Amino acid sequence: MKREILNDVTREWDSKLYDEALSTFDRVADRMGLDANIAERLRVPQRAMVVTFPYRLDDYSEVESVFGYRVQHVLTMGPTKGGIRYAPDVNLGEVAALAMLMTWKCAIVGLPFGGAKGGVRINPFDLSRAEKQRVTRRYTAEIINVIGPNKDIPAPDMGTDEQVMAWIMDTYSQQVGHSVPAVVTGKPPALGGSVARREATGRGLVSLLPVAALHRDLKLDGAKVVIQGFGNVGKYAALAAVELGCKVIGISDHTAAVHNDSGIDIEAAMSYVDKNRVLEGFEGGDVIDGGDIFKLDCDVVIPAAIGGVITPEVAEHLTASIMLEGANGPTASEADPILHDKGVLVVPDVLANAGGVTVSYFEWVQDLQNYFWSESEIVARLREIMNRAFDEVMSIATREKTDLRTAALMKGIRRVADAKLARGVFP
Ligand code: NAD
Repeated sequence: MKREILNDVTREWDSKLYDEALSTFDRVADRMGLDANIAERLRVPQRAMVVTFPYRLDDYSEVESVFGYRVQHVLTMGPTKGGIRYAPDVNLGEVAALAMLMTWKCAIVGLPFGGAKGGVRINPFDLSRAEKQRVTRRYTAEIINVIGPNKDIPAPDMGTDEQVMAWIMDTYSQQVGHSVPAVVTGKPPALGGSVARREATGRGLVSLLPVAALHRDLKLDGAKVVIQGFGNVGKYAALAAVELGCKVIGISDHTAAVHNDSGIDIEAAMSYVDKNRVLEGFEGGDVIDGGDIFKLDCDVVIPAAIGGVITPEVAEHLTASIMLEGANGPTASEADPILHDKGVLVVPDVLANAGGVTVSYFEWVQDLQNYFWSESEIVARLREIMNRAFDEVMSIATREKTDLRTAALMKGIRRVADAKLARGVFP
């Protein structure tokens, strides 16, 4: 008789986002008839690390202690890979859920990684540059035994950027005594970062728009796009949408939301945010309530900020016929059937925002080989991988008569399950 120990105890990583990730996994695993032993194993992360550490504030006498996390979901197919987020509400459950999503994402686009995620529970907007550096170096020191180019390779996520990756690379390299560029991706090009990594998630996301538009008979020239989040993903998604001839009529961040029906000047908004860090005060349109961003009349909507924002209520009001999920986990599971019934084509996070990890993979390969590719090679390979993954997922969806999220997860989970079955159980 099997003892279901993993499911008996309270899970350390219990949280709303983890419950969502798990219920989606259970639903898809059930539909696939996934081997029960494999399903049980994949429901929980293989490694989860919680650290607490102090850092000194700029006021030298003040020291604050914070929580940090690093979770590695599956170590079966190679090293693990996933971003590090700095946000005031990060917890173990959120990081564990995002690590699980990374596993599926890497498997869907065919990368040789398991999923990981990390985070520090802190508000990055409260930190000076010097404080952010001290937090980053100490966090890296705390997790140093579990990261490395052949173990686990962090990348940027919410609240972290190229500079944070450079500090992680430097801290790691100081410890081992030589430069190890391949320990992180999303670094500045001067340190072995890849050209086109910064734009990769936003551009990869929007590279799927032409093919998605064909499935909804949408003419992209003049199509109205609304984007929540104007950070790394949102900014470059906006720019790429404009290049396709779309009009970005609504953008928002955590400080402001702007609406302009004739199209916002995205380059002006980007320079404004580069200078002021936030959108607040940008005068390129009418200021609206942040909560109303998804109520704007549009053809394409791109959530590119935080998780759980597309609630059933928001889904009811959505006018777009296409949603590209730039953020991780933006759609609550109860909202999915509403979107499906309304005929909204939802390109799910695990597929839509995989451009970031794909170019991160290119960066890691280039660092390991000390041989760097041109921008045009990277952009062409990214487009090819994204479009191939989209076509494969679309054909599974058609064959199985299901939505793209279920189809994408079926593809990803199958690949991971095959790898696990091939390796067997140790000892
Ligand atoms: P970022 O920190 O560069 O930008 C985040 C943006 O979201 C900022 O403009 C911020 O103001 C805004 N925001 C935060 N809270 C908000 C709120 N409550 N309402 C409206 N806006 C809010 O982060 P990013 O790297 O652009 O990541 C955004 C999302 O994309 C995250 O969910 C992340 O996990 C996901 N993602 C990022 C990458 C990547 O390569 N950076 C890859 C895949 C997925």
